[in-house]
Amino acid sequence: MKRYLALFLLLALLTGCGSVSPEKAHESIQVIAMDTPMLLTAYGETATKAVYAAEDVIRELDAQLSRTNPESDVSRLNAAGGQEIQVGKALQILLGMGLDCAAATDGAFDITMAPIISAWGFTEDSFRVPDPSELETLLESIHDPGMTLVTARDCVQITEGYSVDLGGIAKGYAADRVAEVFEENGVECATAQLGGNVLAWGSRPDGDPWRIGLQDPNRPDNPEGFAGVLALSNAFAVTSGDYQRFFEQDGKRYHHIIDPATGYPADSGLRSVTVAASCEDVGGTFDLPGAMCDAFSTALFVMGEEKALAFRDEWNAAPSNTPFDLILITEDGRVVVTGDLDFTLDEESGYVLETVS
Ligand code: ADP
Ligand code: MG
Repeated sequence: MKRYLALFLLLALLTGCGSVSPEKAHESIQVIAMDTPMLLTAYGETATKAVYAAEDVIRELDAQLSRTNPESDVSRLNAAGGQEIQVGKALQILLGMGLDCAAATDGAFDITMAPIISAWGFTEDSFRVPDPSELETLLESIHDPGMTLVTARDCVQITEGYSVDLGGIAKGYAADRVAEVFEENGVECATAQLGGNVLAWGSRPDGDPWRIGLQDPNRPDNPEGFAGVLALSNAFAVTSGDYQRFFEQDGKRYHHIIDPATGYPADSGLRSVTVAASCEDVGGTFDLPGAMCDAFSTALFVMGEEKALAFRDEWNAAPSNTPFDLILITEDGRVVVTGDLDFTLDEESGYVLETVS
């Protein structure tokens, strides 16, 4: 619960704004879904309708994508014993994106890591360090070569013995869907924080950009322990960090971002990765910048600084890709910021700021 409180307090900064005129009345609701505390805030006449509609969408997605609810589409697929089954659109879209992201990131992002994530106890909060031999065996049941999608019939299939975990992409997709709800309701200013997935919709009612406090990985329990503040309008900013979910055993910390090459928590020299991209294109079926930012924040954490920066260069060079920017916090105390991101370092945090074009 302490962790939840800290996340809600963090939003004081995010939504803090100057004077709000009466016609800019706002509604703010807290939602706990996808095992995550969330805060949805919208301004304007349709604010109340929009935030509750967004909550409905999030709860519906949670019911479809959860691995701990035996009736979800994901659980039914994982229990199907290799048979083709009919599922909702969300799982079809995310399996497709999962395959695309695995290909784009050279396997650093892998939605078939479920058996390994479970072996570490991250699914059920029953943490343990698996034996090396157990991990070696489990590494043979990831990278499903037989995953198929037959979208014409709403059917999907995975190979028997494989299973899917969408923890690295589902909240980003939910953020895309929240953006759609804001759009449909004519909302001009809003924010949604779904754990580390932030949607800064439009700008603040006073016209300034939203301000997002970037958690200092060294001070995860201090709600004001920021490495700095990111000013952002009309964009997603998704952070994956080694401090968000972890346990300690025999003096060693084990976190929840797993390197598919080894089966162990990624040890890449990074403490957190924030991926930011414009949300202006939300609406098209396969144009899902929130899901993209979420998958890439996980994948680039696995890659480490050098590969992550090279990946961004290559990705952004292709005109058909939605471009993104990065904030990397490194183990050796640097904050590396790319492109034109408007990031202000907290001078007291002790980090050294580096900018990359
Ligand atoms: P959060 O869940 O805190 O938003 P992430 O987006 O980084 O954080 O996702 C981490 C989750 O993704 C893990 O809890 C696990 O369910 C899943 N996961 C872990 N490692 C990988 C990986 N290499 N590829 C895809 N999913 C992963
Ligand atoms: Mg992610």
